[in-house]
Amino acid sequence: MFDEKRWKRTFIQNEISKYIPCPNCHQYKLNVGEKNLKYSETRESSESRIEYGGSPFADYLFSVSGCCRRCREAVTLCGTASEEERQEQVSEEEYEQYMVSTITPLFIYPPPHLFSIPSNCPETVKKALISVFALYCCDIDACAGRLRTVVELMLDAEGVPGRTDNDKPIFLSTRLKAFEQKNAPIAKMLEAPRLLGNESTHELGVKTKEVDTALRIVSHALWVLYQNRQVLELAEKMIEEKDPKKKKEKKKKEK
Ligand SMILES: [Zn+2]
Repeated sequence: MFDEKRWKRTFIQNEISKYIPCPNCHQYKLNVGEKNLKYSETRESSESRIEYGGSPFADYLFSVSGCCRRCREAVTLCGTASEEERQEQVSEEEYEQYMVSTITPLFIYPPPHLFSIPSNCPETVKKALISVFALYCCDIDACAGRLRTVVELMLDAEGVPGRTDNDKPIFLSTRLKAFEQKNAPIAKMLEAPRLLGNESTHELGVKTKEVDTALRIVSHALWVLYQNRQVLELAEKMIEEKDPKKKKEKKKKEK
């Protein structure tokens, strides 16, 4: 399930491998050395530093590429960077102040997965989820909108009609009502990302926290729908093979 605590938007420049997993093997093994980071100070920062007599705080754009130590997948990141003053308590009454360079990745390609996608998840849903992951860093409103698309595609995969007999699109709310007949708890869960997606389309300003919650909901719904189904199939296969009654029936058929 999505764990927002594992995901940090801004961190110290040498912590990339701590917070960004490999987009391919999903391990925290990226080898993106800080020596490879390239910085360009923004125009606004450079102009204001000149105006205020060379303040040590500056804002930059950064870019860096590297690869995974485990699977050799290449990854590239870019975003904003800045210098921050931090303090650390060194004794009961003493604090030490120091400067750190922090980075906020806005684009990561290929996008790292925010949660694991069940292996039997339909390809259409998987593709839209990767797009959700890419948008999470750079455009939270678009991310909420794409998550709503994931809900539409999940219903397509579950066989819930998306168009009327006259080929008119059916509202997602109506589709979810129809899905309630088949799986009421999941239909109820998916109503939340539907509403958030609607809000993101009509008015900008969806909160990251709300998207985090919607991601938790969708990741859980995906797990219940697809991963459970996979486990159920494994259980059914084993029952078929091990149940004495079924074994007898099978032997009879073979004769
Ligand atoms: Zn890897």
